[in-house]
Amino acid sequence: MTFHFPFENTYARLPDRFYARVVPTPVRAPRLIRVNTELALNLGLDPDWLAGPEGLEVLAGRVVPEAAEPIAMAYAGHQFGHFVPHLGDGRAILLGEVIDQQGVRRDVQLKGSGRTPFSRGGDGRAALGPVLREYVVSEAMAALGIPTTRSLAAVVTGETVARETPLPGAVLTRVATSHVRIGTFQFFAARGDLEGLRLLADYVISRHYPEAAHADRPYRSLLELVIVRQAELIARWLLVGFIHGVMNTDNMSIAGETIDYGPCAFMDEYHPTKVFSSIDQLGRYAYANQPQIATWNLARFAETLLPLIDENQQQAIKQAEGVLERFSARFEAAYLAGMRQKLGFSTEADGDLELAGEFISLLATNHVDFTLAFRRLSDAAGSVPAEADLRILFRDKQGFGTWAERWRSRLMREPNHEDERRTRMRAVNPAFIPRNHRIEAMIEAAGEHEDFAPFEELLLVLAKPFEDQASFARYMDPPQPHERVCQTFCGT
Ligand code: AMP
Ligand code: MG
Repeated sequence: MTFHFPFENTYARLPDRFYARVVPTPVRAPRLIRVNTELALNLGLDPDWLAGPEGLEVLAGRVVPEAAEPIAMAYAGHQFGHFVPHLGDGRAILLGEVIDQQGVRRDVQLKGSGRTPFSRGGDGRAALGPVLREYVVSEAMAALGIPTTRSLAAVVTGETVARETPLPGAVLTRVATSHVRIGTFQFFAARGDLEGLRLLADYVISRHYPEAAHADRPYRSLLELVIVRQAELIARWLLVGFIHGVMNTDNMSIAGETIDYGPCAFMDEYHPTKVFSSIDQLGRYAYANQPQIATWNLARFAETLLPLIDENQQQAIKQAEGVLERFSARFEAAYLAGMRQKLGFSTEADGDLELAGEFISLLATNHVDFTLAFRRLSDAAGSVPAEADLRILFRDKQGFGTWAERWRSRLMREPNHEDERRTRMRAVNPAFIPRNHRIEAMIEAAGEHEDFAPFEELLLVLAKPFEDQASFARYMDPPQPHERVCQTFCGT
């Protein structure tokens, strides 16, 4: 076969205990669903070849490309607060790394490609629904400008997977700036493998945080840099109403990307305690809990680094605690900066956070759609008459009116012209998000009728979330009461 994947395999150069060498289990009768042309080009891959018969063999795990060194990565993790020392890629296989057009090293991984030594009781496979959900939501996040893994391709396997009912199987080709997780550090820490831990930390520093290498204390600096990226990521989630759903430490990327889309969801009506995941019955991973959970996960990360931070444990703890404390300030700064943009403020004034908080509370008490409200707020900022379309969303007109007056008087202190303000606000307040009812309908069409048109159309719309796209205006609509999705399932 010709050389179509210029793979490098830096992770496979790490010692054997970091992974298991394993090849994908071939599937019977694969068919291509889609290749992400733009992403393929960015990775220096040939999208036409990928979408052709030879590419399909690779994407379905039937042929291992030359230069690939397939591995399943080892990791551990806290799942819903309980430590599991031995997780690892149970249904994913890392083919290798490619360097993208920006010079960034990116992992190419098959998800749903068969059993590995980490599969435990699982079948190593993925069902079509979750693959399509991950494809659409991760690509939507990328278009929103939020750090995320990407989706390079999806194929159906021609086999069924046994879940509660038999479902069509699929394989997702996922791209990440790396698949190292907090749980990867925990894997070595739990074994007391200090050498492994140091190798991993050095690998992560050189791949993701090279500036830490020159710091006084590189491992403390690593902790700090990871914290900053996570704080910014979680702020971005909150600002678009995203709920990850399973923020276990094995689902938190060390590089600060959104990873492992399972029972995730974007909120329609705003409420801080919203939970969609069927497996999150206590609301551990509810919308507004996400910053606290990230802090908790980062504390677990910090614990793994203690022996590297300082030989004296008390000293190490003191230093780590000092660094961890910075999460909340970083998160709050990122959240407030984002909220200012969403509200149309280009300057900073005391009381902005309160104004944002009051708007959010009004959304909650009036059961208002989060995305629609901010989009209409953008138009209201451009012209007073447009405020009517916003006001209509609130049952408590007086409450809204009082808030709107204060908001307008705050806007008076802004230097920008109205048109410019509206343009800026529309560039941060999306018109289109991957709404749950659209995702469910798309999955149903694909799973039950092999109709991938809704999948393609969703991707098309979500690729330009900030543009009006009049012909797709219906995709802006919140669900009708009968369309409402109250629960999402990870479907693994
Ligand atoms: P997740 O909930 O997708 O983050 O997965 C948690 C752990 O379970 C990871 O170690 C996965 O690799 C593993 N896992 C999930 N689904 C399967 C499956 N169908 N077969 C084998 N392992 C799985
Ligand atoms: Mg996971």
